[in-house]
Amino acid sequence: MRLSRYFLPILRETPKEAEIVSHRLMLRAGMIRQEAAGIYAWLPLGLKVLNKVNAIVREEQNRSGAIELLMPTIQSADLWRESGRYDAYGKEMLRIQDRHDRDMLFGPTNEEMVTEIFRGYVRSYKDLPLNLYHIQWKFRDEVRPRFGVMRSREFLMKDAYSFDLDQAGAVHSYNKMFVAYLRTFSRMGLKAIPMRADTGPIGGNLSHEFIILASTGESEVFCHADYLNFDIPPADTNFDDVAGLQSTVDKWTSLYAATSEMHDEAAFNAVSEDKKMSARGIEVGHIFYFGTKYSEPMGAKVMGPDGQEKPVHMGSYGIGPSRLIAAIIEASHDENGIIWPEAVAPFDVAVLNLKIGDAATDAASERLYRELGAAGRDVLYDDRDERPGGKFATADLIGVPWQILVGPKGLAEGKVELKNRATGDREHLALDDVVARLTIRK
Ligand code: ATP
Ligand code: MG
Repeated sequence: MRLSRYFLPILRETPKEAEIVSHRLMLRAGMIRQEAAGIYAWLPLGLKVLNKVNAIVREEQNRSGAIELLMPTIQSADLWRESGRYDAYGKEMLRIQDRHDRDMLFGPTNEEMVTEIFRGYVRSYKDLPLNLYHIQWKFRDEVRPRFGVMRSREFLMKDAYSFDLDQAGAVHSYNKMFVAYLRTFSRMGLKAIPMRADTGPIGGNLSHEFIILASTGESEVFCHADYLNFDIPPADTNFDDVAGLQSTVDKWTSLYAATSEMHDEAAFNAVSEDKKMSARGIEVGHIFYFGTKYSEPMGAKVMGPDGQEKPVHMGSYGIGPSRLIAAIIEASHDENGIIWPEAVAPFDVAVLNLKIGDAATDAASERLYRELGAAGRDVLYDDRDERPGGKFATADLIGVPWQILVGPKGLAEGKVELKNRATGDREHLALDDVVARLTIRK
């Protein structure tokens, strides 16, 4: 992409309304624009990151065996009357009437709808287990939308729903999502710690929130420091290995980790003093086993091997890709701007032409732009007629992981400078070596 032809509305001034760094940087970098309280347009740069985050979420959901579909944002109130949640949900639900005065709503979540789909088709235990997910916009009329896309009213959610014949099957489905979540967040450069969460009236301990530690997090959390160094399950994890997955989950739940709602002071005090961590955290994912809470009232039953019909056991599993982007920025930035982990960066490389109109810098920059693009890298070419300082500032603000500085002095010796955004390291490279250097991943 040539920056002169792109739509990157960067703000010079720090927006006053933004209280936390991720919100400030997302506005300044031209990623999002507020259209109403807690409702944002995703500008081109923001959308590029959102698509990258979604791609990782999708790959890891698919790897674990979950199947993608797409349910609508608008739902019928009658579905929610079946589960009893229409009245229970309260003011967070945006209720709408259509031209025939039918009660509709903008979905805050999809348990009812996916249960309706399931009961329409699935009759036998032979079709289980099943896990259906989608990535779709949700609306929750939050009392206090704030911090930009961190707590917005319209937000993106990946929500998966598992169906099993019995509790043992459901636990395995839960474990698959647990492992998929560890991999998902780790691929985005985040250390997410699964923490016991409240299961409400159903009981048991099968609910975990995945929390990123960050000083601006909304929840207070307590955990064992060793979680930060645990190994992430590998890409070739066998998701059908029931015992193997269970042992991974057991390990990841063996040490103390809880949000303030579930905090047990006595248990935390048993952790040795040098391993105790109390911090603030951002909830980026939440997984939940809830048994037959929806299948029973909504009549989602399957025939078991014994010929008996039983309500299916379900779980639901959420990740907030839009919130995740803010969480990544909270975890990875400096005073100059965002530092994207390569996996979610909007562009892989920026080529900064430091002297537009100079025959040598123009030719070298154009060549790098073409050749890196041909080698599969997503390149932002800063071809604007602007001072070098402005170009450095833009590239740093939007956090492009690799920056190639093409200036007349270096080029006189056939060289350009390669800068790593995260480390600040700079190396001088022969023009001919740049493409090879940036296509062999380090
Ligand atoms: P919170 O406790 O932060 O209000 P929640 O427990 O209501 O969230 P879930 O119903 O578990 O959220 O939703 C799954 C995921 O969706 C959350 O882990 C989070 O990543 C995301 N999410 C929920 N609410 C919002 C919101 N208002 N803005 C952005 N993302 C959200
Ligand atoms: Mg939650």
